[in-house]
Amino acid sequence: MATRGNSIIKGVEIEEVINLLNRAYADEWLAYYQYYIESKVVKGIMKDAAIAELDQHAADELRHAGMVADRIIQLGGTPILHPKEWFEKTNCGYDAPTEFDVLKILEDAIKGEQCAIGVYSQIAELTQGKDIVTYDIVSQILADEVEHEEDLVALHEDITEFVDQIRGSLS
Ligand code: FE
Ligand code: FE
Ligand code: MG
Repeated sequence: MATRGNSIIKGVEIEEVINLLNRAYADEWLAYYQYYIESKVVKGIMKDAAIAELDQHAADELRHAGMVADRIIQLGGTPILHPKEWFEKTNCGYDAPTEFDVLKILEDAIKGEQCAIGVYSQIAELTQGKDIVTYDIVSQILADEVEHEEDLVALHEDITEFVDQIRGSLS
């Protein structure tokens, strides 16, 4: 544990921060797998553009899991050791793809990002001015999640518009 590093944390319980980070850690692994498997099963028009985005986001979520785990360890905690705990601790849950249509998959993913934005903004609010290092890490992740949401929404709009154009030209 970073003893001196942790002595600068004031006004927030370290145990509470560790607990919130572990919940976010569970979310990141589930988000990683959701993107991973969505990229494999997605079908339909412009699926290549979706696959590129889903793969990039999967890589980002795995990187986030690493950032969160490292911070948990610095704080003297232990990241979740068994995957079954992901489901006990998760905030955002896991949305297994049921329909593989590209628009439906993007909609599931957008919901996940919106949940992640809520989770990280709460941890940012709790740690702001109290645990500067955690605040900095969750702010970086939050910026990625905001970008993820925007990328997915923009792609969803592009595909919807393209489908409408095709329908228009056929009618
Ligand atoms: Fe993430
Ligand atoms: Fe994300
Ligand atoms: Mg992206």
